[in-house]
Order: sequence, then structure tokens, then C-alpha cells
Amino acid sequence: MNVSRFVKPHSRCRMASFAAAATLALFFTVLQMGADEPYARSRDFDLQHSRIALRFDLEQKKVIGDVTHTLTILRDFTPKIVFDSAGLTIESVTVNKSAAKFETKDDKLIIALTTAARIGEKFDVNIRYEGKPTKGLYFILPDKDYPDRPKQVWTQGESEDTRYYLPTYDYPNDRLTTETILTVPASWTTVANGKLVGVADASNGMKTWTWKESVPSSTYLITIVAGELDEVKDAWRGMPVTYYAPKGRGDRLSINYGRTPQMIDLFSKKLGVDYPWEKYAQAMVDDFVAGGMENSSATTNTSSSLQHPKLAPEFLTGQDDLISHELGHQWFGDLVTCKDWGDIWLNEGFATFMETVWSESHFGKDQADYERWLSAHGWFEQPNLYDKPIVRHDFNDSGEFDGNAYTKGGWVLYMLRHQLGEDAFYRGLKHYLEVNRGKNVVTADLAKAMEEATHTNVDQFFDQWLYGAGAPKFDLNYKYDDAKREVTLTVKQTQKVEGHVGLFHIPTEVEITTASGPRLFPITISSEKDTEVFTFRADSAPLMVLFDKGGHILKSADFHKEKKEWLYQLKNATELADRADAITALGKLKGDEDVVAALADALRNDKAWGIRANAGDALGQLGGSAASKQLLDALNTATEPWVRNRIVSALANFKDDPAIIARLNSVAGEDSSYRARAAALQALGRLKVPGALTTLDAAVAADSPDGFLRNAALRSMGSLGDDKAVPLLLQWSAPGKPIDSRNAAIASLARLQKDNKEITSQIASYLTEPHFTIRTASIFALGARGDASAVPALEALLKSDDLSIEMVPMIKGQIASLKASAGERHGSHGETPAEGEESASSGAGNDQGEGAVTKRLDRLEHLMQEMSDRLKTIETRLPPPKQ
Ligand SMILES: [Zn+2]
Repeated sequence: MNVSRFVKPHSRCRMASFAAAATLALFFTVLQMGADEPYARSRDFDLQHSRIALRFDLEQKKVIGDVTHTLTILRDFTPKIVFDSAGLTIESVTVNKSAAKFETKDDKLIIALTTAARIGEKFDVNIRYEGKPTKGLYFILPDKDYPDRPKQVWTQGESEDTRYYLPTYDYPNDRLTTETILTVPASWTTVANGKLVGVADASNGMKTWTWKESVPSSTYLITIVAGELDEVKDAWRGMPVTYYAPKGRGDRLSINYGRTPQMIDLFSKKLGVDYPWEKYAQAMVDDFVAGGMENSSATTNTSSSLQHPKLAPEFLTGQDDLISHELGHQWFGDLVTCKDWGDIWLNEGFATFMETVWSESHFGKDQADYERWLSAHGWFEQPNLYDKPIVRHDFNDSGEFDGNAYTKGGWVLYMLRHQLGEDAFYRGLKHYLEVNRGKNVVTADLAKAMEEATHTNVDQFFDQWLYGAGAPKFDLNYKYDDAKREVTLTVKQTQKVEGHVGLFHIPTEVEITTASGPRLFPITISSEKDTEVFTFRADSAPLMVLFDKGGHILKSADFHKEKKEWLYQLKNATELADRADAITALGKLKGDEDVVAALADALRNDKAWGIRANAGDALGQLGGSAASKQLLDALNTATEPWVRNRIVSALANFKDDPAIIARLNSVAGEDSSYRARAAALQALGRLKVPGALTTLDAAVAADSPDGFLRNAALRSMGSLGDDKAVPLLLQWSAPGKPIDSRNAAIASLARLQKDNKEITSQIASYLTEPHFTIRTASIFALGARGDASAVPALEALLKSDDLSIEMVPMIKGQIASLKASAGERHGSHGETPAEGEESASSGAGNDQGEGAVTKRLDRLEHLMQEMSDRLKTIETRLPPPKQ
């Protein structure tokens, strides 16, 4: 799934969008995700088919169910059948149509069999029940604050939440076919797994929809979406491809989702296994608890992926990362499913990899390379991931849906493709999918399939990258000996070898360019020793030495080169990753005209937009009038919104420069790009420009698509730090205003009038709202304010029964930091936030650290902005701006 959008780490696929959230987590609290069962269960029965009939009582937010499970016993002398069932009231149970004794205990429904069953015996178990699910199934309904909201009921099963609305076997290592029968108001539309069999009139103005899924999949992939929805029909090779939006937003479907059939086609061809389900539906729903969830044949995504038609063209890759991720899961996750959560990377790493497959094919190699370069940096910025293997069963300290399963998992597949070669790699994947089609798998199944198909032993590769932890950190030096005409390259692996982290064995390539041209040398880094020396022939002194040309290894590298070499590399390296590395190195050389000139040249002329944008960032970091002039000049010529917004953001590094302030004001008021205008509004706040509040007020008052500029202005008010913004922010944070505007206003309120307890209590009053993002924004805002009077409200929230598992540590982290900062203020030591908690708020109110705190808040602000503006939709991916 794609944990995205906001902070919902737990939900599996939802993790993705969660990328930003993952970073946020660094700032605030160690994410402790669920206490999911790490190992697959031993089974007493094989659930083969479920007929699931549901009705809904909207008034009471109740589900009324009638389910019949068909199952076969797997073990002799089985005395009872045990299902997972959480918080449901069971009304009756029959076994083969006879009433059966049952009891409910510890989230289990235990059904006694009249005589102990033998292997192969078959039972039909019917269960009638009802319940008010606290998770698993969600009611999104109009209320007094949002009276026009379309009604929606939807489910989210992964990882172990199906049991909250359906008594069933709730672990991935079993597969079943389903028949889903939904009785809903006649004006509603429904979506479920499989084919639509029919819609029939029912009594009292209701209709009954029947869906049938004939390809078996696991229970966490069961889905139900019902409500007032718009539908757009599309097709791939005659198969139905449908998109759904909450009523009134159907005009946003095609512009955001229209590339789906092309993606299905690409993946079917690349994998050599056609899309395996009977249809593909994508239903976008409000308040979704993740970015997306890959239910078999029927993905559910957040409605914030329905970008306004005027904004959509400003995002180069649109929603394609989310769409391709969930689509990739239809093979990896749904057709072939991890046996246990310890192998979740077989779902999420593949889905992340498939995003790049689409990117590379549709947007070109530079785009895919740039995404991968960013993701590697993002992964290294999460030090809590480093010492943990991808495949592990002790994940309950931090959750299994982490940046290792997603980002590093995706990287591992990319590296495997690079090492085996495109043809062999896909031959291996085809074999893996064919052999394991309709089965549950562990990592060893992948290794076996790859070896069978390619005759290449991948054991060491799997050992170091999947069962081992970390990634190589290189220190690199070279010397040229003119007499011998030799380049000597010293390669040192500097990572600390301990725990699961070892030295890495890596085949790679070194490219040496001299006046007579480039030469490529394959080498193999050994895992036997930490330092190795390689010698290469060179006809003259090198102009450029590239280690791992093109950046095909997940690594960090400190390559000691002179300025002129980096300059040459930025100008001449053919691969994006090598030019991006040069920018990173040059961005540290302050006060150098050559560097500014080279970065300016890259900003204007590099063929890859990612390099142009990175060069803009680097000029911002360098500072100085020469750099600012180049950025201002570039604004005259740069046309793409995804570059313009980065240039404008880079200008926020130059304080008290009237020319820059004038330009930011003019961009904020008028520009071809909404993203550039939003970036300008934010920059005015970050620069604390006197009088900027007038500009921001005007932007809040004006209309723009989906309030895009208003939200940017509201966010900017927090950075500006002008307390006069408080009344307006309170107004926009209130129930009834658009959710995105409220999130922005709440984040800014966190930073103003920190002694004003009324603001604190106002924010605290939002904690109990049903909107996931409002809750999250409020939790973090209270932590950031540093006002300990919020502690009781947060503690009360901890006791409520509808918290997602991931929200609990989030709240605990804020409480700990509030208590800690209160302690500091009183001169006592206070409680130390738990390790890794490094809360952005922990120093708030402490004068000494104000600068550092402000910096952290700015970074947080930046992250929140990204999350809400675009990372809403990605799974657990990287924080740096992707487009
Ligand atoms: Zn996923």
C-alpha cells in the first residue's frame, strides 16, 4: 500500500505517500507501527470462498453482516474453527446449516464442531453479526461542518484490520475467492473485488450489488467502497478499467488517472505475465487512511490524488507514482503475496520498483535516475533504518512498513536488474510470477526463481542486501602516476561493521576520462577487506574519474576530488547521478565565482530538469550576490513549473535583498505557475519580510484552484512569525473550512503566540475530529507549541478507541517532548524524550536553542508543505522534492 499522504505509516500500501511522513518521524518520534504477527500462522483450515453480504446503518455507523465461509480442514482431530473477529457482535453461527455453539474471546470467534474434524472435511460456516467498526471500515458522511460531503463507506484491510468488520481468517497466508453482496441506497455506486455480476432492486429504495472474484487472494486484500460516487469507464484490451471519485469530482478522473491502461500494458509486457484480474478499478475516497491500497482488482486511493485540472499540468509526473505503485502490487502483493509481514518487501519493494519502471518508460531515463538518486539520499537520511535488515521478524519496534521495505527494497531490485542485465532479470521475474502465481512467498522463493531462470547464483547478493543490513559507505581517493601512466584508486568501506552490517561484495564500474576520451573498467569490491587499491592504465592525467558510473549502487560516497574535477564532471558526465553528485560537492564551495558560474550554466542548460532544479537549490545554499543574480536571471527563462518553484524557493536563502523581495512579491501576485506563486508566498514568510503579512492576507482572501495559493499563504504565516496573523489563522483552522486550509492554518498556529493558552486549547479541540489529517496536524502542532497545558488533551486522546496504531507513538512522542520542555523551563532536568525522538518541539520555549529550533521548524514546515501538497499520494518514499 501506499502509506502516504499523511502520516499513516501503518497501513501498508499506504506507506508510500508516507515518504514524507517517514522523514517527519525522524523529527518527532520513532514510529512504532503495529504489533502485527511477525510469523505466518500454522493453519487448521483452508478458507476457500467467502460469500460476504453487508448492509450499513448510516445513522449508527454500523455494519450488518451475513457471511458464509467455505473451508476445508487441514489437520486431523480439529475440534473447533477459530476466526479473527474484533469488536463485532455475533448473532448466530451455523455450521453446514445447523446452529453451532460459539464464543468470542480476545478478538477471536471460536466455533465448536460437534465432532472433531478430519483432514479434507468441508464446512460451510455462516455468521450473522453486526458492529460499529473502529477501524477496518470507515463511514465518511456529511455533518454540520461539511453538509455537502458525498457519503462514502470504505474499507482498509491491511495489515490486520479486516477482522474489525468481517469475522474471517485475517493473515496473508491463505487465499480465497469472494462474492460480495452490498445492499445500499439506490443512488449509490459500489466497488468490490472482481466482476460485477449484477445490480438488483431491493426494498425501501435500496439496491443490491453483487461482485464476484474468481481469482483467490488474501483477506487483507478484500475491499468494499460504496457511496455517492462519479464513475469514468476506460478499458485495456477490452477489460474494464474504471475510475471513481466522490460525487462532483468526476471531471478530475481522466486527467489524473487516464494513463492507467498504458501502465497496465507496459507492466504486462515487461513482466511477461498479463494483468491477472478480471477488471481494474481505482476508487478515490475522502479521508482515506493511506495514500493508496492495492486491493485485488480494486485499488482504493486517497481523493487528494484528484488534483484540480488547473494544477495537474504543473506536476510533471502527476499521480503516476501512486498509480503505478498500486498497479504494480496487482502482480506483486496480490497475485503473489508475502507469506508473512517479515517479507513485506516482496510486496512493497516491488511496487516501489514498478514505479520506476513506469517512470523510465514514460518520462525517460533521466526521470527514473533522478527519482532513484533522490530516494538513495532520502534513505540515508533515516539512520534508524540502517542497522535493520529488510527481511526481519523483529519489526515491532518500528513497524514492518518502513523505508527498508519500500525504498531500499526498490533499490535492491534495481541493483539486481543492473547486475543480471535487463533480459535475465525479467526472465527471472516472469519465472517467479509463474511458479508462485496464486501462492504466498518468502524471500527465498525469489532467490530460487531468479537462479532457476538465469543460472546465476544470487545467494551472496540476497545475504548482504536483504538478510544483512545497511549499505556501503565509501571513502575514495585516487592518484595518477605520470611515469607509469597509471591511476591508483583506493576504495575504503567506512561503515561500521557490527550487528547485521558487514562489508559489501559489489561488482561495479570505474570510468576514467582523459584528453583522449573515456574508458570503462569493471571492478569487484570485495567483502573480505575494508580497503582495496585498484590500478588502471591511463594515457594521460585523468580529467574525470567516476566510481560506480551512473550511480547503480545504493551507497554513500565521499570522493576526494578537486574543484576543477567536479566542475568538469558537472559539465561532462553523461549520467544524471554523476552530475547530481558534482552539484552536491560544488554546493559546499562557498564564495567561488567558478562554482557559481558552473551551477548557473547547469541551471540554464542541463538537459535534465532534476539537474537544473538541484543546481538552483545549490545556488541558494551558496548564497552571495552572484548566486542570487543567477537565480533571478534564470526565472526569466525557466518555464517548467517544477523548476520554477525550486528556483523561487532557493531565493528564500537571501535575506534583506530588496531586488529579491520585489521579485518574490511579483511572482506571488502573478506568474505562469501556481507552484511558483505558492513558493514565493512561502519564501516571503521564511525571509520574514516586513509587511509580508499584507501580501499573505491578500492571498488568503483570493481564490485559486482548490485554494492552492491560500493554503501556501496560511502556511507561510507560521514562518513569518507575525502574531497579527493569529485571528485569521484561527478562523481558517476552524471546522467547516476546507481540510487542506485547516491543516495549513493549524501548522502555522503552532508557531505563533506560544504563551497564548487559548490557541493551544483551540487546537486541542480539533484532536477528536474524525479527519485523520486534522488530527495529525493538531497533534504535531501541540507538540511544536511547547505549551504543556496541551498534555491532558493529548493524554485523553490516547485513551480513545479509534486511534490507528501508528497514531499512538505519534501522540506519546509529543507528550514526552512537552513534558521535557516544561521541565527545562522550570530548571529541572525533566524527562528525556525517548531515544530518536528528537522532537522539533523539544526546545521550543527555550531561548538558548531558538535558532536551532526555528531551523528545525522551518524544515518541518517544509516537510509538512510537501506532504500536504504532493507527497499526499506517494507511498513511503523520499522527502526531497521529486518534481
Ligand atoms: Zn504499496
